[in-house]
Amino acid sequence: MPRSATAPVTPDSLFAIDTLLDEEERAVRETVRRLVDTVIKPHVADWYEHANLPVRDVAVELGRVGLLGMSLTGYGCAGMSATAYGLACLELEAADSGVRSLVSVQSSLAMHSIHAYGSDEQRASWLPQLAAGVVIGCFGLTEADAGSNPAGMRTTARRDGSDWLIDGTKMWITNGSVADVAVVWARTEDGIRGFLVPTSTPGFAASTVKGKLSLRASVTSELVLDGVRLPADAVLPGAQGLGSALGALNEARFGIVFGALGAARDCLLATLDYAAGREQFGRPIAGFQLTQAKLAGMAVRYGTGVLLALHLGRTKDAGGLTPQLISAGKLNNVRESLAIARTCRTVLGANGISGEYPVMRHANNLESVLTYEGTSEIHALVLGQALTGLPAFS
Ligand SMILES: Cc1cc2nc3c(=O)[nH]c(=O)nc-3n(C[C@H](O)[C@H](O)[C@H](O)COP(=O)(O)OP(=O)(O)OC[C@H]3O[C@@H](n4cnc5c(N)ncnc54)[C@H](O)[C@@H]3O)c2cc1C
Repeated sequence: MPRSATAPVTPDSLFAIDTLLDEEERAVRETVRRLVDTVIKPHVADWYEHANLPVRDVAVELGRVGLLGMSLTGYGCAGMSATAYGLACLELEAADSGVRSLVSVQSSLAMHSIHAYGSDEQRASWLPQLAAGVVIGCFGLTEADAGSNPAGMRTTARRDGSDWLIDGTKMWITNGSVADVAVVWARTEDGIRGFLVPTSTPGFAASTVKGKLSLRASVTSELVLDGVRLPADAVLPGAQGLGSALGALNEARFGIVFGALGAARDCLLATLDYAAGREQFGRPIAGFQLTQAKLAGMAVRYGTGVLLALHLGRTKDAGGLTPQLISAGKLNNVRESLAIARTCRTVLGANGISGEYPVMRHANNLESVLTYEGTSEIHALVLGQALTGLPAFS
């Protein structure tokens, strides 16, 4: 008999996760879950198969319920806690990492950069529309030859009278070819600075990366900036040096610490159902000890990941979250979520590779999540340096 949704223990109830959330956090979780179940989940396998995420339609739906820039204050943003934002990321990624990526890039990378480093005028002119989802933002840091080491970027911004002239190419930029505004990081004579580039500016071009086998329900692009001329006030006045870009990345990494577990949970729930209904040798495969060892191990990995994420959320809300703890959270929770997705794949046997089930899609997506926002190796090096005092990056 298939395991029903009313089974006594779920991966969340096993760890009494609900007792750790306040009323507002549970309400946020329910709102996002409802939105995901009605607007995203019914379509996401198709979007993934055809590599065709309707970014603008989805963004407007997300904006309508206050999910874009939700932990920012003012300018039409919801001003929720970091923990609530994390829980929203978890629910979104239970649908697909691509949808959570859309929200991470719009909120934590583009909007956070404008909110934290922008002038009052920049905030007022961009944030309300980004929060509503009627304007799409992207964040251009990575280049083809500068990924883990963004300090190696070649994109330049130089003064021409009072204007700026930007030249360079950015690679692997989420939302790039649908964006209305790009936060572009470029080398200037005063170090690396961030610029707000309306994508309609002459000299700006973006093309979508084709042939991805991961994050197919996400738009990934190359940006070309060829003599892009911007007024003096296009620079983000508060963004000084690469540290400002990394500050925004830390916001996005925080969301991933929660988000990746959503993909893991979706795999786990699909697998529990499948294992209860699938019979071999005359009994449900859920009844075999080897299957149960996998299920128990995955539930423990998932639950400890959620506890870690909530600890990061509480620490961030209290103002004490360090980059090292974010690295520990991203390293652990993405690695564990990927391990869960791969193990779930084995429980589903041949069906595990079918798009009828979400498992292989999540597993493929998590390969990207393992790499972007700092690879697992780079986060290990951050922790290695913290523990030993010895940087081993180069
Ligand atoms: C789907 C997707 C979306 C993305 N979206 C964005 C975006 O919106 N904006 C943006 O700016 N970027 C984005 N990125 C880029 C992403 O951040 C980079 O891919 C990531 O930083 C890694 O850079 P790289 O791919 O050039 O790998 P590399 O830096 O070339 O690394 C290759 C391998 O070498 C390892 N390595 C590198 N240096 C060291 C070292 N010192 N010690 C040990 N191992 C090392 C890495 O860990 C990795 O395993 C996206 C990437 C993907 C896949």
